[in-house]
Amino acid sequence: MTQKENIIIIGSGPAGLTAAIYAARANLNPLMISGNEFGGQIAITSEVENYPGFDSILGPDLTEKMKAQAEKFGTRIQYDYVSEVDLTKGSPFRVKTYSQEYEAKAVIIATGASAKRLGVPGESELIGKGVSYCATCDGFFFKNKDVLVIGGGDSAVQEGLFLTKYASQVRIVHRRDQLRAGEFLKKQASENEKITFVYDTVLEEIKGSGKVQEVTAKNVKTGNVEAWNTDGVFVFVGHFPNTDIFKGQLKMDEQNFLITDKNMQTSVEGVFAAGEVQDPIYKQAVSSAGQGCQAAIAAERWLSARE
Ligand code: NAP
Repeated sequence: MTQKENIIIIGSGPAGLTAAIYAARANLNPLMISGNEFGGQIAITSEVENYPGFDSILGPDLTEKMKAQAEKFGTRIQYDYVSEVDLTKGSPFRVKTYSQEYEAKAVIIATGASAKRLGVPGESELIGKGVSYCATCDGFFFKNKDVLVIGGGDSAVQEGLFLTKYASQVRIVHRRDQLRAGEFLKKQASENEKITFVYDTVLEEIKGSGKVQEVTAKNVKTGNVEAWNTDGVFVFVGHFPNTDIFKGQLKMDEQNFLITDKNMQTSVEGVFAAGEVQDPIYKQAVSSAGQGCQAAIAAERWLSARE
């Protein structure tokens, strides 16, 4: 039987959880559908040092605090995954999960973004056997081991720093000769004696029988190819927005980010979006939370104007 809802929030990262806090406090009785990984990217981040109000907090702890706050005001959380939506016929919108069909007067999409893969031979086969996209989940298994971190952005440097708690050596391998990461993280990493930077280098293959043992690395300037022994490859080469189920229904840019207006409304009236699913630029926990707040306020105004 179709369950009727006022407002459904799809996704449980900082954008979704903040939208839930605001929607619940506006008496909208929101239903949040969590997605497969509760909390999204921030829940698998190590230290968060730039979320206002917290000098330093672990990503999972920040998620837990936001969740408790959303529930305190009455958000109901469904631990499920949205497999299909029909937003084409206007409100009420149809939302289908693995286990239930819903109709919602308004929808806030906060499905976030997922880690990109490198796409080199050996990577897929060795996921969970030394190839990882999450230092907080897997770092513990690399005590006194040698690991490579691929990427030159904030995630690569931040998670590289986290991995020094366990690994004996962390080599951050970046395809250019300049990091994209911010100055503060760069300074911290350059002062950490377990970290070395390898520039102008890409991985061509990850090898190992049953676990990562070796990689082939190519210097893109000299063309020189080398084999390196290592125990782990942590990949942080950016993210892609989780918008597959909205294709053909909502307007997207050329990189498949949802397009929203200044009220966080998508191309369909009554459907709002917040966080990385619609933000190719800022991509911070705090900017996502801010957009979640805006989306919930806009949705509340839209709903009350209709009623
Ligand atoms: P990002 O900023 O998009 O950086 C991705 C990195 O991966 C770039 O250095 C890029 O190289 C490299 N890369 C991309 N494709 C590659 C490939 N195929 N092979 C090798 N390298 C590749 O992603 P992110 O680091 O995950 O950060 C995402 C957002 O979250 C950013 O806005 C960031 O500021 C934010 N964030 C903030 C913090 C913090 O403030 N502490 C922590 C984590 C993340 P190029 O540089 O050559 O493009």
